[in-house]
Amino acid sequence: MIELDRRTREMIEEVRELGRLHIRQMGLDADQSAMPPPVDHEFYYICARQDGLVSRMVGADEGSGALDWKPFRNFLVGEEAAYWDRGVALSLPGPGLGGPAMRSTATPEQRQRFLEVFTDHSKPRWGAMAMTEPGAGSDVARIATRARKDGDEWVLTGQKMFCSNSARAEWVVVWATVDPSLGREGHRAFVVERGMPGFEILKIEHKMGSRGYETASFTLDDVRVPAENLLGGEEFYQSRAGFKASMATFNMTRPLHTAHGVGMGRAAHDFALDFVKAEYPKHSRRRQLAMERLARIRRGLHTARLMYLNAVWLAKTGKSNALEASYAKMYSPPIILEAVTAALEILGEAGVRNDKMLEKLYRDVKILDIGEGTQQVQRVVVARQLFDFPRDK
Ligand SMILES: Cc1cc2nc3c(=O)[nH]c(=O)nc-3n(C[C@H](O)[C@H](O)[C@H](O)COP(=O)(O)OP(=O)(O)OC[C@H]3O[C@@H](n4cnc5c(N)ncnc54)[C@H](O)[C@@H]3O)c2cc1C
Repeated sequence: MIELDRRTREMIEEVRELGRLHIRQMGLDADQSAMPPPVDHEFYYICARQDGLVSRMVGADEGSGALDWKPFRNFLVGEEAAYWDRGVALSLPGPGLGGPAMRSTATPEQRQRFLEVFTDHSKPRWGAMAMTEPGAGSDVARIATRARKDGDEWVLTGQKMFCSNSARAEWVVVWATVDPSLGREGHRAFVVERGMPGFEILKIEHKMGSRGYETASFTLDDVRVPAENLLGGEEFYQSRAGFKASMATFNMTRPLHTAHGVGMGRAAHDFALDFVKAEYPKHSRRRQLAMERLARIRRGLHTARLMYLNAVWLAKTGKSNALEASYAKMYSPPIILEAVTAALEILGEAGVRNDKMLEKLYRDVKILDIGEGTQQVQRVVVARQLFDFPRDK
């Protein structure tokens, strides 16, 4: 096993403690009530006060290009937070999916301006990122939210859906197009701030799982955004940079998604292992078969972890990681689903009861197949990189 440095081990321990004390139970409560924890939940204040811990739990980047443990740390700590409850981990205060978009696109001044709000530890605050629309999910090139320049402002019109934490966010990074006929080259990212007239939350989705964080739809009805809120500034978007920036975002969020999945798979594995040790007779064939199955799952989870670490390492050393990020994203959901399925089968009747974490995990893991590019889309991405696979316009 890889030897982790002292600080990384300490941080994983800190999250483990928070998981035991708060995160697991908050996830179960959110699942039962079908409502994410409220914005004034005491735990969010605890997190907001702990400098940097939240960003690590949600896998935010420390910006280091050096080859040390720091870049991996956030992903390993994110894995641990998801072990306790991925939904709650994603609901933690911080820039959320808006963070990677900020890092891949914003100017230093914009980063300072929009990320500064998270350094005020007096109360929890959130950021978000909106790409998905009713007519544009996997195929992000089809986004139809329009951006029109009007003097010193941009005017945004459209609708976004499935945007995590947007209903509680201070700002949302909104991807829009200046001209749909330009396809991906027409993409621009804007920061829409809470309270801007015309920005209206339509509804919070009722989800089958991962209910610890909220996912909302919103409209942009001629929202006027100052020119300074165009992420990266106008010159950034020459030569397909806008689309490259949105893809760069995915190249970091896909490994993070995998890290979260490994955490969830480990949780299922540990449930099953504890049950086998306690309930299956020693030296029985049944016990041996269950242990063999769990060992296979453990190998799969270990491989998924190495895959996401590899994708992170490539990105942090300045190399392209698009292929490896998709490999990790594509490989992990079936292994994680198998971990949860095996655990349910091993626990039998005790596993499917609604008061048990496993029944919830079974519903929670489905999102791993959907978010940050579905299983099918990853296959297309990989095929395009490996072979001369046809590309949509
Ligand atoms: C809980 C949750 C949180 C989310 N949070 C965010 C967020 O914060 N911000 C955000 O922008 N989005 C978010 N999303 C949206 C998510 O990224 C999209 O759901 C995802 O991109 C898939 O898009 P879609 O649901 O429209 O499915 P579609 O793109 O309509 O796909 C439907 C089916 O067709 C398949 N398919 C599509 N294209 C191809 C192809 N070329 N080849 C083969 N098969 C194909 C897909 O694999 C899928 O099975 C969230 C979604 C969920 C469920």
